[in-house]
Amino acid sequence: MLRFKVVEEAISRKAVKVTPPIGRPSEYYAARVFNQDRMRKYLPKAVYETVVDTMNNHTPLPRQVAEAVAGGMREWAMEMGATHYTHWFQPLTGGTAEKHDAFVEHDGHGGLIEEFSGKLLIQQEGDASSFPNGGTRSTFEARGYSAWDPSSPAFVVGSTLCIPTVFISYTGDALDFKTPLLRSLEIVNKAAVEVCRYFDKDVKKVTTFLGWEQEYFLVDEGLWAARPDLVLTGRTLMGHESAKNQQLEDHYFGSIPSRVTAFMEELEYECWKFGIPVKTRHNEVAPNQFELAPVYEEANLANDHNLLLMSLMPRVASRHFFKVLLHEKPFKGVNGSGKHNNWSLGTDTGVNLFSPGKSPKDNLQFITFLVNTLMAVYKHNGLLKAVISSATNAHRLGANEAPPAIISVFLGRQITEIFNKIESGAADENIELGGKAEFSMGIPHIPELLIDNTDRNRTSPFAFTGNRFEFRAVGSSDNCGGALTVLNAAVAQQLQEFKKEVDALINQGYECEKAIFTVVRKQIIECKNIRFDGNGYSDEWKAEARERGLDCENSVPLIFDNLLADSTISLFSGMGVLTDRELHARVEVAWETYTKKIQIEARVIGDLAMNHILPVASRYEAQLLDKIYKINGIFSAEKAELLAKSDIALVEKINGHISCLHGYIEQLVEARKVANKIVGERAKAVAYHDTVAPLIAEVRRHIDRLELMVDNEMWPLPKYRELLFHR
Ligand code: ADP
Ligand code: MG
Repeated sequence: MLRFKVVEEAISRKAVKVTPPIGRPSEYYAARVFNQDRMRKYLPKAVYETVVDTMNNHTPLPRQVAEAVAGGMREWAMEMGATHYTHWFQPLTGGTAEKHDAFVEHDGHGGLIEEFSGKLLIQQEGDASSFPNGGTRSTFEARGYSAWDPSSPAFVVGSTLCIPTVFISYTGDALDFKTPLLRSLEIVNKAAVEVCRYFDKDVKKVTTFLGWEQEYFLVDEGLWAARPDLVLTGRTLMGHESAKNQQLEDHYFGSIPSRVTAFMEELEYECWKFGIPVKTRHNEVAPNQFELAPVYEEANLANDHNLLLMSLMPRVASRHFFKVLLHEKPFKGVNGSGKHNNWSLGTDTGVNLFSPGKSPKDNLQFITFLVNTLMAVYKHNGLLKAVISSATNAHRLGANEAPPAIISVFLGRQITEIFNKIESGAADENIELGGKAEFSMGIPHIPELLIDNTDRNRTSPFAFTGNRFEFRAVGSSDNCGGALTVLNAAVAQQLQEFKKEVDALINQGYECEKAIFTVVRKQIIECKNIRFDGNGYSDEWKAEARERGLDCENSVPLIFDNLLADSTISLFSGMGVLTDRELHARVEVAWETYTKKIQIEARVIGDLAMNHILPVASRYEAQLLDKIYKINGIFSAEKAELLAKSDIALVEKINGHISCLHGYIEQLVEARKVANKIVGERAKAVAYHDTVAPLIAEVRRHIDRLELMVDNEMWPLPKYRELLFHR
């Protein structure tokens, strides 16, 4: 049987030897990237300077310059072994998309020349009708454009030059994650600079930083291939919990198994070659679960790097006979995978706006940005939840074994105490906190704040961790761009409102710092409801959050309604991040994708139940019946009854599950038929959530029971203990 064959193979596999690149990491770092160093080498000086200005200040790039850049880029790429190029973009389906073209053109004399023009670098037109667009593009005008994003450098993967691009429709609507992200980075820059100037007139630019932490599972390739549910849906749709799971907590930070170490080493080498500054790697909580994190970078680049990582991971893994699972919940009963987004804002004068400073002024600035972020998260908590919600992440948030799908902010004891002091108006006195530091929030004397960032709460979806916020609800398979776009837009809007209020007070004659402090104090009180430092997993919190008016909706299709809330529309169109049309298109895509994911799961589990599980359960049942029949033939009725008692009971149990399974599979087909006839993506998604998804869970429940009863020798699919503990 396939199961035993692949289990044997998995057991006998050895770590694959990895040869490190020649030289130190600093020497081969970014070797495959057309970064500023390479540009200096391959481009004429004037061209180089114009491109750098475009990269740093987003000035438009003149056509002739693009021509020169393309030439230099092609020359470098061909030296790197590239024969093809592709515009690399981020469609709404998630992941990245590419279409490869060779660097060749007719030479006009019946031959070919290597060619790559500035026009092809800057913009490409393509048939993009098969990418989700939520109705923004009908098939007769199925053209999409991809356009170069010079703020993220091109790179060579294998024999292909990859050029990071945005992806827009013929009508100019954004069809990707990058476009709104870039817009949001620009507006938060503008809004934050304005507020920074209260404190320092020299600030000209505020940059958004992102440090992602990518969690993932590894499964032996053979075992994976023997699980059609993993292959087709990315998660196990069935499987009884292993007798040993993560109870002993012996995997977290435990020593990394050698096969995995080899994979991680090679992945790190690859990342460094592509200029992805990965730094930490370790085991995660669940067996066979791991994490990789880089040093944080400018957010657009960091996000491109995360997407590139997600496409490098499977390639490297296959050389080690592993499959990477990026699904948020591949296994029931053990932890799911997230992608914590460490987010902060920093000025061109070198100040991290979420880091307490040395002077009273710095600290007022720190508190200002902290509170405005809280306000933004408070006002848009439903939207923030919507943007990280999906059919897959739903298993990690708001489901049985998961924290509730409620966004709240953890600040930690020290900041909470400072806020309480400010609120109670006693801010002029000195506050002593844990004997660590003495400070006062009084104006104008605010001495140094020392924030103890060891104060952690692992259950909070949005936590302040000393010098940044950590948005932890983002799913492991997600494009961080969605979450970042909402966060930046919401904070930008909030900062604009803040500035209006402060300016109004200044016009009334308030001194600047007094005006800021007054608004900050008002905000601290106003957004108190978003602050929660307790146990986010508890039932009490669910009840309390509801009372506080936080969004507590659990159904993903209904959570998506937040994307069309008035507050969202005015945020996105008001700030120029997404037009009404773009927004509507996105929601349609979200509902449609949700439906499709559940639909596929329903089909897969139906097939597996019918073709893999039921025949085996029946076969085992028949064996038992055969034995019972024979017992009755040999022994007296009285004795036979005694001898066959437990087998009869088992037959009855198995039979019970078999008939339940038949019933639920029929209902599942029926529920799908009904749902499929529904017109309108929202209503269809709601039906899939309310009627189809619960039946998938029911089918699973019976299969998982059968797994415990049926002879292990007959069970066709690798079990949890094999998937999770062989490596
Ligand atoms: P932990 O697991 O304790 O949260 P990690 O080291 O795994 O810590 O991840 C922390 C991530 O946060 C890293 O990517 C790191 O570069 C990033 N980070 C640190 N400081 C900042 C900051 N000011 N802004 C954004 N990201 C940051
Ligand atoms: Mg973290």
